[in-house]
Amino acid sequence: MTRKVGVIRDSRYLEHKPGLVHPEAPSRLRSVYRMLDKEFENRLVQIEPKLATLEQLQMAHTPTYIDLIMSTAERDFTPLSSDTFVSAKSYLAAWLAVGAGISGVDALMNREVRSCFSLVRPPGHHALADRAGGFCIFNNIGIAAKYAMEKYGLERILIIDWDIHHGNALQDLFYKDSRVLYFSSHYMGWYPNTGDWDETGEADGAGYTVNVPVPKELEDDDIIHLYQNVLNPIVRKYKPQLIMVAAGFDGNERDPLGRTRLTEMAYRKLTQIVLQVSDTGNGAPLFFSLEGGYDSRALASSVREVLDMLAFNGRRERLANLPTKRAEEMLRKLRRTHSRHRVWT
Ligand SMILES: [Zn+2]
Repeated sequence: MTRKVGVIRDSRYLEHKPGLVHPEAPSRLRSVYRMLDKEFENRLVQIEPKLATLEQLQMAHTPTYIDLIMSTAERDFTPLSSDTFVSAKSYLAAWLAVGAGISGVDALMNREVRSCFSLVRPPGHHALADRAGGFCIFNNIGIAAKYAMEKYGLERILIIDWDIHHGNALQDLFYKDSRVLYFSSHYMGWYPNTGDWDETGEADGAGYTVNVPVPKELEDDDIIHLYQNVLNPIVRKYKPQLIMVAAGFDGNERDPLGRTRLTEMAYRKLTQIVLQVSDTGNGAPLFFSLEGGYDSRALASSVREVLDMLAFNGRRERLANLPTKRAEEMLRKLRRTHSRHRVWT
């Protein structure tokens, strides 16, 4: 099987300008793209994002909402919510960010690449069916997952959301659907204040939403132990055909908005865990899509660690499974909450 790593980038993502002092600024991606040029050059497969179709946008959004976003085209400045603003070309960036997910899924399913990182903005995991919020306009990963189900007939997709905010729109979209297992670790005291332990899915989706509210003091060893002990049983039992990562880096210790005590090494090791669970399963392809991360330098170096791990060709040492007090506490609570569903416990 190919080990090739794909990457999706486009200068049009820099044209979304939510305002001079807005944290979700073009400089975030500029810094990531500079890092790519400097450190990866020809090691990655470039994948062109296409524009999503209207039908694809409608997989996660209402026609009225899509019209509203398209109507902001060429207008200097439009507020969509108290924290989400758009400029003249934002509609195009958002539209193309969805298309990146479509292109990424195609490249993965056609086995052109083993993994793919969609380096786009605006982010997507807070974009509800009819409402923008949390700097998000369209639900990039949600639509890519729906597309993978429709086009390739996938029935089991695992979405891992390690952004420090809860991906309320991803949870919403698949809350009653067992074809997507949504796992999120996040701090609950911040936007959007959702994702409590007992939000575990409904109807057919009961047990397929796995939320872990983490403490602000979260350190690298805590999250590594947590992910090892949640993702291994999930992948063993659920057997995902595709693994998607809502890759936000605002848990980084230097992030001005999120900030726990995570360093770049945490993201490297989380990537290693994702690769290992995928390898021990049926080799499910891996799709990463950029979400938050608001310190440009910390963001670029975190993305670097993820890509370097994905592109690393040598034999990887198995990570030691070292329990920490905080992780054990979260795992106990999580297993207690989920044991009745028997989806992965
Ligand atoms: Zn975030």
